[in-house]
Amino acid sequence: MITSLRFFIVIVLALVSVKIGATTIVIVNGDGAGEGFNSNQPVSAVPGNSATTLGQQYLNVFLAAADFWESKIDSSVPIRMDASIDPLICTATGAQLGGAGPNNGFFDFSGAPKTSTIYPSALANSLAGQDLDPTDNDLTAVFNSLLNGNPSCLGGIRWWLGIDSPAPSGTISLFDTVLHEIGHGIGFLTFTSANGTRPLNLTDAYADNLFDLSRNRAWPALSNAQRAASSTNTGNLVWRGANVEARAGVITGGRRQGSLRMFAPSPFQQGSSVSHWDTALSPDELMEPFATPTSNSCATILALKDMGWKTRNECGRPVVAPILPLLLDD
Ligand SMILES: [Zn+2]
Repeated sequence: MITSLRFFIVIVLALVSVKIGATTIVIVNGDGAGEGFNSNQPVSAVPGNSATTLGQQYLNVFLAAADFWESKIDSSVPIRMDASIDPLICTATGAQLGGAGPNNGFFDFSGAPKTSTIYPSALANSLAGQDLDPTDNDLTAVFNSLLNGNPSCLGGIRWWLGIDSPAPSGTISLFDTVLHEIGHGIGFLTFTSANGTRPLNLTDAYADNLFDLSRNRAWPALSNAQRAASSTNTGNLVWRGANVEARAGVITGGRRQGSLRMFAPSPFQQGSSVSHWDTALSPDELMEPFATPTSNSCATILALKDMGWKTRNECGRPVVAPILPLLLDD
């Protein structure tokens, strides 16, 4: 029996694709010869993914996920993502599916909407209209190569590499997982630590929207100890950004005093707490901490808009994500 399928967040301080369009997400292949994206292992074509090598199928999934995000956010600065498929934790009962995070954060740059506020690399570049650190890529994403049918890993569950069909029983959609992790990588997370402390004691674009209902205060107005307490104040940590607030009504479950709840279990769960929506949200959202069979991205894209991203088609039909059900409409 599977007890957990957990995403995790990595905050870390061969060019494959360049797409012409409003936004370009460049996937930088970090795998070695013969593994991950470079695997020549023969595979059968699956729905939406006609490649016949494992590496190319992985890559096609990433390209489709990049297409999705390119359809939702606007940036004149290419977003460069370090990506790899490597062995991560996997036992008979639990696995890390993948992790991602921004490579850097920037503050008080030309174009920053707010002073003394940290913006994750990709967002900072977008706001600045230029690459603020050309020597480094913007986010890093890693996915577990062990989900390959080995019985010792989740009883033999494997990645589903199809793109336009639901994951069959006994598989997990890599496409949905990559969508989720790119969400973290472009900024859906806080830089705040579990103990409430912050880099250089600066707030960040995500934390700026967090609000504690018990104290009736936003996170930037809390002390470190109060932020730590708020992180485990289950049900009372919510998102208070104007764009999400305006559309919060389309979420029927997981609201408190009209606002959407954030994931704030007690005790604190490293890598999951705060930087996800609460699992109580209904319909399920892309940025919940556990993989769900179906998910929407409406609230997630609106939250990114609250952070400063230029977004479009927030709650409309995903361009290349047909396996996400369309429960919310513009
Ligand atoms: Zn996550």
